[in-house]
Amino acid sequence: MKIHLSQFAGFCGGVRRAYDMVAGLDMAAARQPVFILGSLVHNDAVNERIEKKGISRIDRETFFAASAGEIGTIIITAHGSGPDVYAAAKEKNIDIIDTTCPKVLKVQRLARAYKKRGYAIILVGDRDHKETRGIDEWGGGGAAIISNDDDLKNIHLDRSGKIAVLAQTTQNEDFFRRVGEYLKKKYSDVKVLPTTCGATHERQEEVKRLANEFETVLVIGSPESANSNRLYEIAKEINAKTYFIENADQLEDVWFKGVKSAAVTAGASTPEWVIEDVINHLRLI
Ligand code: SF4
Repeated sequence: MKIHLSQFAGFCGGVRRAYDMVAGLDMAAARQPVFILGSLVHNDAVNERIEKKGISRIDRETFFAASAGEIGTIIITAHGSGPDVYAAAKEKNIDIIDTTCPKVLKVQRLARAYKKRGYAIILVGDRDHKETRGIDEWGGGGAAIISNDDDLKNIHLDRSGKIAVLAQTTQNEDFFRRVGEYLKKKYSDVKVLPTTCGATHERQEEVKRLANEFETVLVIGSPESANSNRLYEIAKEINAKTYFIENADQLEDVWFKGVKSAAVTAGASTPEWVIEDVINHLRLI
């Protein structure tokens, strides 16, 4: 079986930057104890490595409830956080290591700027995703979140008001475009700000090509990874023989019975060692 590995499989620039900042952190020099706010990326293999370094995960509630001195350093992940986290860290004298991807920072700033200029914010994103929540908070909270067509149909805003439409960076670009077109028809003053990231665009375009050219497509990523799920959905729509796995243990021989060519891609949070492991297993099938 011919196996083709996508040129874009694995860490994007933002995740690479965040991982390198955390993996390269000098623990002896950092103010202790060091915590990370949630998972660095939505990938267990990556998060286990970080825990082994002595960095514990902390959730928002525990972070906000902690007293001064209980947390020495807090790491903000590539998905970013709302302004309340920065304010609480300052108040409790906690050092911040901010690995927010610069592209996510840009969306946060746009949300804040447009809200200040009197726009209602519409955010195309996964409702419960940390990045979506953070962007909404920078925009003052209360953004209308659109995750699917039902959300879109149910949107009712002041027809005379100003509307800014932003995207979580990993959203499906076709869906985002459709949302923008729909809203422009329905409302008079709509500013569409295409904030999906280039890394997402490249991956989504390439996976369409792979799904057309190869008999089988394998997407490697965590079930919680928004961008990995998008890749899977896009490929599956084109090629029914598309499969989503988190690691090599989930490979099933039956998927490749009689298959002569398979393409492998991976979400932006999937580390290279997991991809290599899957490729090595595939070669044995
Ligand atoms: S997918 Fe794009 S926005 Fe998200 S972390 Fe990677 S580079 Fe940044």
